[in-house]
Amino acid sequence: MTQYRRIKSAHPDDLLFFQLGDFYELFYEDAQRAARLLDLTLTSRGAPQGGRVPMCGVPRHAAESYLARLLKQGESVAICDQIEEAQSGKGPVNRKVTRVLTPGTLVEDAFIEQGDESGLIAVTQSSSRFGISYLSLASGTFQVAEVGSRGELAAEFARFNPSEILVSRAYSLTDLLPSSVSVQELDEMDFDPVAAKRMLLAHFCVDNLSGFGCEHMPLGIAAAGAVLRYAERRVGQSASHVNSIRVTHRQDRIHLDAFTRRALEIDLRPDGSQAPTLFSIMNATNTAMGARRLRDWLRAPSRVIEEVLDRQAAVSEIVHSHLDNSLGSLLSEFGDTERIVSRLALRSASPRDLVKLRRSLSLLPDVRTRLAETTSARLLDISDRCPDFDDVLDLLRRALVEDPPALLRDGGYLADGYDSELDGLRGVQRNAQEFLAQLEADERLRTGTPGLKVGYNRVHGYYIEVSRAANWRVPENYVPRQTLKNAQRYSTPELKHFESDALSSESRAIALEASLYQALIDKLQGSLPPLKEAASAIAELDALQSLAGKSRSYGFSAPAFVKERGLEYRAGWHPVVAEHSSSPFIRNDLRLGGDSSLLIVTGPNMGGKSTYMRQTALIALLAHAGSWVPAEEARIGPIDAIFTRIGASDDLTQGRSTFMTEMSETANLLHNASSESLVLIDEIGRGTSTYDGLALAFAIARYLAKHTKSLCLFATHYFELTVLGESPGIRNVHLSAAEHQEEIVFLYKVEPGPASRSYGIEVARRSGVPETVLEDARVELARLESRLLEADGEGPDLFEEPRVNPTKDPQVARVLDKLASLDADSMTPREAQAVLYDLISLVAPTK
Ligand code: ATP
Repeated sequence: MTQYRRIKSAHPDDLLFFQLGDFYELFYEDAQRAARLLDLTLTSRGAPQGGRVPMCGVPRHAAESYLARLLKQGESVAICDQIEEAQSGKGPVNRKVTRVLTPGTLVEDAFIEQGDESGLIAVTQSSSRFGISYLSLASGTFQVAEVGSRGELAAEFARFNPSEILVSRAYSLTDLLPSSVSVQELDEMDFDPVAAKRMLLAHFCVDNLSGFGCEHMPLGIAAAGAVLRYAERRVGQSASHVNSIRVTHRQDRIHLDAFTRRALEIDLRPDGSQAPTLFSIMNATNTAMGARRLRDWLRAPSRVIEEVLDRQAAVSEIVHSHLDNSLGSLLSEFGDTERIVSRLALRSASPRDLVKLRRSLSLLPDVRTRLAETTSARLLDISDRCPDFDDVLDLLRRALVEDPPALLRDGGYLADGYDSELDGLRGVQRNAQEFLAQLEADERLRTGTPGLKVGYNRVHGYYIEVSRAANWRVPENYVPRQTLKNAQRYSTPELKHFESDALSSESRAIALEASLYQALIDKLQGSLPPLKEAASAIAELDALQSLAGKSRSYGFSAPAFVKERGLEYRAGWHPVVAEHSSSPFIRNDLRLGGDSSLLIVTGPNMGGKSTYMRQTALIALLAHAGSWVPAEEARIGPIDAIFTRIGASDDLTQGRSTFMTEMSETANLLHNASSESLVLIDEIGRGTSTYDGLALAFAIARYLAKHTKSLCLFATHYFELTVLGESPGIRNVHLSAAEHQEEIVFLYKVEPGPASRSYGIEVARRSGVPETVLEDARVELARLESRLLEADGEGPDLFEEPRVNPTKDPQVARVLDKLASLDADSMTPREAQAVLYDLISLVAPTK
């Protein structure tokens, strides 16, 4: 327990998995916590100073699945292993922490789901600016950015979707941090920009950071230093494969805030499932690294049009040449090379990893052959990044056996002929087999006992076994070792001598093999940068062929990018709805920009308004990922951001009601949308009273049309809003429906002009609302409509902009004149009362 306490004191915040033989045990609060999280039985043991120590444990051979569950729940775990064999009477065996696992620094395939990323973000703040840095040890991605508002910071969290976030204790960011993510609070000192810069310079072996474009980003640098230092400390290794850092600028990609990401279901549905989403239907990648790349492209669509066109040209070439068909099976043989290279850099690559790497490298010439005919600059570049790794391949071929064992513990993974000393020791062991066979034959002869056997077990070592019936034949030099029911086991001095030789050569061979393996890993370090490049090129190729294959099979077309503001497509469709619907999808056109920058979209409930709006966003998004798009033709002008206000739900954890959530999202987009932003608004103002909601919807639409001048689709059931369709830049469109034998038929076709009805009661009937309620609703609707008709033409038009200046109103002017002529100080109470009567008679003459 003294040893335990010493080790635990260095890992106060981690659950300490403490090896005791074949188990990992946890004690005290760790045990209570783990028992709760893993549903384990909590036991206890006596403590030397009295009382009981709570404990629980998991078998070592099954530890991985328990660890994965803890990590998923945001826990960090320190693994403390026995680093020597237990020897009786020698005190506690030596133990040390061999690995710390935290949700954001994982590189082991067992803990990260296929195609997922384990990433880490650090954030630091100075007044209202934030420095933010993202690091994934598994892929070697390192990025840095500075943002100027909490909203942008929240958008960055949503974009990176990290598994762990590092923040300074000094600032409160709790309201921004995603609740599902593990948060580590560090000291403010850990974010010191000067120390961080020094560390980055040393890490990249450079004199300044201008080559990476972040020389003048002190906050970003502070975050980058913190994130790298934390990761290296946790894995206990220098992250040498992290060989560059990329600055991400807001202007380089389409801004998607957290609400918009959720609403567009890019790679996650609101219920947390992963399909069907845009990513799931576009994903035909063959490797986990390709899937990650594709997801990155969809999550952060680029605004750098050269980059987008570069990808698009590659996609187009693959579509036309059907290259994806021949690439598919080849790419699937690569596995997750990117992650293997990362593990190699962190010196945790297993022999099986290296065998996979060897296989991947041997396939690179085939990749180049397939790309030989290509003309796309991107594909040629990929080909160039996949050179022959003759030396590395030769080394790996010589060093490793064909099919190494999963565990390093028993050796047997280095090939014969790789090292002569190892061969020698293995020779002794092989000769041992011959020796034992010979000994068995000799002893059978000597004792005249054909059933005599020579064998081995872990507890008693080598033995000679003689059946009970033949026991009387045993010679004098046989020393009894173990009695079984029907047999007796013996040793001899000769066998004892052999045993110590054989066992020492075996343990020497295992130790030598382990040190040769470490030397092999060291030798490979020099080739890390080109290996990382090649892995990245293959990941990119996989993502490109996936976009191409899916574009062809779904019948997409290549969008054109133009300089003029606007977004237009012909016969466009929603790729996810169309793919997952059994009935045919009705395609629609769109023209946004110029005189129709804001479209008021009306139509019946369930008529397809949301679908039309979302498909527009997905077309823009796919285009900027480099893909073809679900439309027969598309022309896309510059787009800096996509904002949505679609659907509503309470955000009770943040203390916000449905209406409050809706209004915060609206506030966010009104503040941040520009004339190049695509804004999708669905059903604004529904969570409050009809007139409040209507008035807000009206004002918001007018603000978007007049002030932000965004490209906007504004879906609503407030038909009153369609009067705006006459204003400059605004047009009405509607989703058509027809009534057939009192049944509504959705046509899903977008037509010009406003809709006349919502068919809400009809849709409610289809949904199974009881007939009595529907009948009541119909009567109520008729009553409301007739009241509205009566009121029509009377009172002021609610949606006219206020034209009357109150001070110009003659009645108001008279009151004001009267008030201005008074001298309150010189009046008696009676005079004051008389004036009051006068004023009342002015505004209410009949009183
Ligand atoms: P509400 O006003 O009630 O929110 P809505 O007008 O937004 O409804 P959507 O949610 O877009 O309607 O569409 C309802 C359903 O209609 C979709 O789930 C889809 O199955 C189908 N649908 C929508 N658009 C089309 C289309 N163009 N072709 C075929 N089916 C469609």
